[in-house]
Amino acid sequence: MFSLDKVIRPHILSLTPYSSARDEYSGSEGTFLDANENPFGSVISGKYNRYPDPYQAVVKEKLAKIKKVRPGQIFLGNGSDEAIDLIIRATCEPKQDNILILPPTYGMYKVCADVQNVDVKQVPLTPDFQVDTKKVLETADANTKIIWICSPNNPSGNIIERASILHILDNFKTGLVVVDEAYIDFATEESFTQLLDTYPNLVVMQTFSKAWGLAALRLGMGFASEEIIKVLNKIKYPYNLNGVTQKLLYAALGKEEKKDKYVKQILKERERLHKKLTDLSIVQHIYPSDSNQLLVKFTEANQIFHYLIEQKIITRLRSNVLLCDNCIRISVGTRKENDILLKALKKY
Ligand code: PMP
Repeated sequence: MFSLDKVIRPHILSLTPYSSARDEYSGSEGTFLDANENPFGSVISGKYNRYPDPYQAVVKEKLAKIKKVRPGQIFLGNGSDEAIDLIIRATCEPKQDNILILPPTYGMYKVCADVQNVDVKQVPLTPDFQVDTKKVLETADANTKIIWICSPNNPSGNIIERASILHILDNFKTGLVVVDEAYIDFATEESFTQLLDTYPNLVVMQTFSKAWGLAALRLGMGFASEEIIKVLNKIKYPYNLNGVTQKLLYAALGKEEKKDKYVKQILKERERLHKKLTDLSIVQHIYPSDSNQLLVKFTEANQIFHYLIEQKIITRLRSNVLLCDNCIRISVGTRKENDILLKALKKY
């Protein structure tokens, strides 16, 4: 049986979070003399002088409908990077607990753990970038507070088999299983958000930085049980999502069709780029992708990466990364951008 009290650090369970007078009054009408704001307005307009809603109630209500979850199951952060950091802080005692990651994978899980002096156990993915569930469950110990599964994975781009994730969820009950779905909009697989009520130890992360095109706003989502979300809200900075971002997000949530249109275009381009790259003699292998990135094995990745940089074509060299020898990760661009890349590679 999973018990959240055994996973959250004891002093975090008992700490008193920062609270504002507006926790008692959440209306927008009133005479606000509680937060030492400028009553006239800002120096650039009559707006922005008031602190934003710390719990982002209006946007969460709209987002909950889109994601088919309850508003209380949503955490919104300054990028999903904020959620990654907070979930480690909430659960891992420095120099005592550990997290388990599956390299090659997104770098911030390890960075955030390193910052907190939290040990990182690593169980490499298999050569086809799937999870060795047996090894994962053997490697996790009593101090493992989080197993991170990135699906679709970065940098390989593929979805992790659903059965593997379910197997880990069913058998790892002493910590959280975080499924990072930053690229889920590009995949045909269903999100794990629909299993939140089945698995109290499940956390799902998504982002507005990819398919929704809002990377500059820094907007990430964490989905989990109401109890886990309450803990994250307790330890976040009070106004972590600024007011302008909340307004823009509200508008963006009404434009789901545009997001879907972008996804379709990107997927079409991914297939075209994949085909054209296959024809090049310097390309040795292209890994199957369920996201907006292609991991490509070249004859000499290092030289090709630097050759592209000289022409102001920026890709991501993954040459020294586990299982990615001689690989470059390419984000799928517009047709024009992809043609610029293809033309340069042809000339190499
Ligand atoms: N998870 C994965 C797998 C990512 O690739 C990224 C960004 N590259 C993030 C999380 C962070 O996204 P955000 O912009 O929401 O911080």
